[in-house]
Amino acid sequence: AKKDGKNTYKLSSDDEDLSSYKKYALDRDMRKAISNEEFELHFQPQVETGNGSLCGAEALIRWNHKEWGLVSPGEFIPMAEENHMINGITDWVIEKVCQLLKEWKEKGLPIIPIAINVPPIRFMKKGLFQHVKTQLENYGIDPFYLEFEITEDTLLNIESSVYSTIQSLKDLGIRIAVDDFGTGYASLASIRKFKPNKIKIDKIFIDNINNEDKVDNGIICATLNLAKSLEMNVVAEGVEEFEQLKFLKKNDCDVIQGYLFSKPVKKEMFEHIMKAGY
Ligand code: C2E
Ligand code: CA
Ligand code: CA
Ligand code: CA
Repeated sequence: AKKDGKNTYKLSSDDEDLSSYKKYALDRDMRKAISNEEFELHFQPQVETGNGSLCGAEALIRWNHKEWGLVSPGEFIPMAEENHMINGITDWVIEKVCQLLKEWKEKGLPIIPIAINVPPIRFMKKGLFQHVKTQLENYGIDPFYLEFEITEDTLLNIESSVYSTIQSLKDLGIRIAVDDFGTGYASLASIRKFKPNKIKIDKIFIDNINNEDKVDNGIICATLNLAKSLEMNVVAEGVEEFEQLKFLKKNDCDVIQGYLFSKPVKKEMFEHIMKAGY
């Protein structure tokens, strides 16, 4: 038994070595990942609850690492926020989306607005507005086709410069969505400070629809009512089951995003989905 115990210990210690080596390697290699063209974007469709038609998509980054394969953003985005690579990565995503929109337009595809995750710290650094404006101009893209998703935390300890950047982006015609709504503390304060165009209800609430959780379902309905009275759109995230869709439809939620309709897909697959329109 002792030997087993020792083996077990040894195994988990190897595991730790592996994961800390992986972290070290990812942190090191991240610096070269943009110039090596190792990042790629996948797209997750958003569809209207009423008729299932395609109305938007969220761009989600993946890292094609030569040693570790496809690395998920959950693994490297927090790291990128710590080593400040996130700013360059965000700017890359913005440019890539504009470039793809141009390509799709030229192919004659019926393009739809693409949502981009813009993390808090990118707003703190200068040059975001100018970068966005330059990319839109370079690729000839109407700002209507861009939407920025901001997590509530950004909106909490908001500096006035961040506030004015968000306002400039809105004035330019870019829609602002509050991401992971309901999970932070800023929810109502953030909505009051500047009216976002859209709210994304976090998956944790959607997960509980089937359990008939009174509190969570109440939060969903209250959010939907609030959004309606302030003329904001609502997207329900992480919809996996038909029962959830039924509940959301019954309560007038405009748009859903989730595995029920589609997982995030590669560019080529997304082009097929756009062409088909659903
Ligand atoms: P998020 O912004 O909340 O994105 C939604 C995540 O939920 C995505 O995971 C998506 O694949 C997943 N998801 C969507 N529908 C379902 C569903 O029905 N069931 C389940 N189980 N999951 C679903 P992903 O792509 O792994 O991204 C994770 C997080 O990484 C994102 O959460 C976002 O915070 C961050 N992220 C992804 N791409 C980017 C990016 O380009 N820039 C930044 N700054 N962050 C990103
Ligand atoms: Ca998001
Ligand atoms: Ca989210
Ligand atoms: Ca999230």
